[in-house]
Amino acid sequence: MGARSVTVLGSTGSVGVSTLDLLDQARADIEVFALTGGRNVERLAEQAIRWRPRLAVIEDESLLPELRDRLNGYNIGAAAGPAAIVEAAGQGADWVMSAIVGSAGLAPTLAAARTGSTIALANKESLICAGPALLAIAKAAGGGVIPVDSEHSAIFQVLQPVSPDRVLRLILTASGGPFRGWSLADMAKATPEQAIAHPNWSMGPKISVDSAQMMNKGLEMIEAAYLFGMPPERVDVIIHPQSIVHSLVEYTDGSTLAQLGPPDMRVPIACAWSWPDRVTWPAAKLDLAAIGQLTFEAPDETRFPALAIAREALRAGGGAPAAMNAANEIGVAAFLGRQIGFLDIASLVSETLDRLNHSGDLAADDDADPLEWAMAVDVGARKVAAQVLSRFAGKA
Ligand code: NAD
Ligand code: MG
Repeated sequence: MGARSVTVLGSTGSVGVSTLDLLDQARADIEVFALTGGRNVERLAEQAIRWRPRLAVIEDESLLPELRDRLNGYNIGAAAGPAAIVEAAGQGADWVMSAIVGSAGLAPTLAAARTGSTIALANKESLICAGPALLAIAKAAGGGVIPVDSEHSAIFQVLQPVSPDRVLRLILTASGGPFRGWSLADMAKATPEQAIAHPNWSMGPKISVDSAQMMNKGLEMIEAAYLFGMPPERVDVIIHPQSIVHSLVEYTDGSTLAQLGPPDMRVPIACAWSWPDRVTWPAAKLDLAAIGQLTFEAPDETRFPALAIAREALRAGGGAPAAMNAANEIGVAAFLGRQIGFLDIASLVSETLDRLNHSGDLAADDDADPLEWAMAVDVGARKVAAQVLSRFAGKA
């Protein structure tokens, strides 16, 4: 593989750090165009000094002087703010890791898609907001989207080039998260520390809370439906507490294909980096004899209502997935900020969706530009969610 230009959006986060670690270990011949971070200016500067990108961008503009200071004498450009991240994303790198968290990742991911970069997509929220439009833009520009989310990477790897009607179901595995065996009464009292203590995966705080409430799997059902063009009723979820089988594809002839691996994001990142080839790096090998048992059980949608909320949003279509995502981002942030309880997140999401449905704001608008419309739905849903939150917050 010759020199490849790379941009890592969200390089200071969990997936971003794993990406740079993998690229380091793969010892690939790499030219880094840009690294971007949200607020962790110290880590961003360290990474920039290590990788010497053309540009390091911090989202929080108040941190630009500190970034400049830290990069002084290294001949690395420094910039700040959301628009600068979008600009960095659109520089046409061969490979762009999209690993910003939340719908803040949509505009930069789109900018990368428009230039025809190959996008390694971890930022699932951008797909939930505007999946079909984003995928169409990437395709038209000649790049591609390779999923990094472990379940979607698994499906991507075992989905054969047969007609879609030969696929009965995509089956997403879920660990069940830290509250798998908890009662609703205990979950009502759960703290942010308990919610982010995931049993198998080490991840950023937002996706960890999403995993605990199984909204992560809800978002992933929508992600899978868009990525692989499957109708909602053919995307299923099964609990698999060991997180070794990362997902499965069931075909019409009775055959089911699964992908297995250790719960380490560097494996799907490596796949997205080298596809359709494979890199060699010292990944932990799967020791099935030591693991002993792989178990599966049906999800409990009474204790985890987020699954049903997400399925309904996917079925409803229009702006429902984007609105659900926006309300969930508000709810998770409020829970992490100790303003509301754990179970209030899903209640807040469902009440926000009810209000928006009632006012007709989520019905698809065929005349609008799909991207501008998705972004407007995101902004509108945040406003309604903030109103609902102000009522919930008093009760926490
Ligand atoms: P994280 O919180 O650890 O990192 C997020 C990154 O985005 C950081 O670099 C942060 O500085 C940056 N950021 C945050 N807000 C920003 C904003 N408003 N503008 C620009 N940058 C901003 O999150 P993570 O766990 O690395 O997850 C990143 C994405 O990957 C999420 O969409 C998540 O759902 C997805 N994902 C993560 C994992 C995992 O194992 N961590 C697995 C699958 C999918
Ligand atoms: Mg996942």
